[in-house]
Amino acid sequence: VMRESYTSENEKGFKTLNPTLRPIVIVGGKGKMGRLFERMLLLSGYQVRILDKEEWQDAASLVSDAGMVIISVPIHLTEQVIRQLPPLPEDCILVDLCSVKKAPLEAMMAVHSGPVLGLHPMFGPDSGSLAKQVVVWCDGRYPEAYQWFLQQIAVWGARLQAVSADEHDNNMAFIQALRHFATFAYGLHLSEENVDLKQLLALSSPIYRLELAMVGRLFAQDPQLYADIIMSSPNNIALIKRYYTRFGEALEQLERGDKASFINSFSAVQTWFGDYAGTFMAESRSLLRSANDNRK
Ligand code: NAD
Repeated sequence: VMRESYTSENEKGFKTLNPTLRPIVIVGGKGKMGRLFERMLLLSGYQVRILDKEEWQDAASLVSDAGMVIISVPIHLTEQVIRQLPPLPEDCILVDLCSVKKAPLEAMMAVHSGPVLGLHPMFGPDSGSLAKQVVVWCDGRYPEAYQWFLQQIAVWGARLQAVSADEHDNNMAFIQALRHFATFAYGLHLSEENVDLKQLLALSSPIYRLELAMVGRLFAQDPQLYADIIMSSPNNIALIKRYYTRFGEALEQLERGDKASFINSFSAVQTWFGDYAGTFMAESRSLLRSANDNRK
């Protein structure tokens, strides 16, 4: 119901929080995330210009009177594209939507002396709306200049969460790099074992179907994006390596047939999760219930 009400609000348009803003330029605006922001900004009454690969010869004139420039190019090109920007008006707000934050934010601070903001939309563009989604933001420079934009994003229905670029990247190592890599490895394993997905699903309870859907959905998406996210920092690789080591150590317990030590480790993790274990049990139960209700 929530999602439907935001969707219908989309068609009517959103309140314009900064009606005097000069045009907004989206660099990489023909891409998936760029198009979503273009649509939301147009629905909110702003003027939007696109600067994609083919438009670089017009870059200087496109940005010459821009009120805001949003960078939404693939991760591995982000810093290079930021360095390639023509000079921006002094009061122009420079923003990026990149899934990593530290390096792009530093690059933006280096090329522009006006307001700078780092954003990370924590969802895929296939969501089609920002309702109930999380948008992480990292302050760059002159935060007073872009408070209206954060509020505008809140008007679109998103929950905003502030974090430093360092903390962002450290947490994303878990939320994105480790998680996506583990999912990739699981998918790789299923494919190498050549399991019969149809039969697996026929024999599965709803929770396994849901788990498989979480794995399978990764492979409906852009491999370049995930390669970029996972390999965006040596810290990510180090974290994945520690996971690999622990996986091996846990496997050794199994090979030794050492049930007592498996149960000990299990209990230690149980203690570590504490109250969250019960909370997660209840939360997943209600998710499963609604997943069941939605299945035809
Ligand atoms: P995309 O590949 O769909 O779009 C990128 C766009 O950039 C394309 O239109 C491409 O033509 C354009 N481009 C490439 N090189 C360019 C250049 N030199 N100059 C101008 N334009 C150029 O990628 P996307 O999924 O829209 O991702 C864009 C940004 O959004 C990335 O920084 C990514 O980290 C971020 N993001 C994406 C997702 C997601 O799920 N797709 C989620 C969160 C954040």
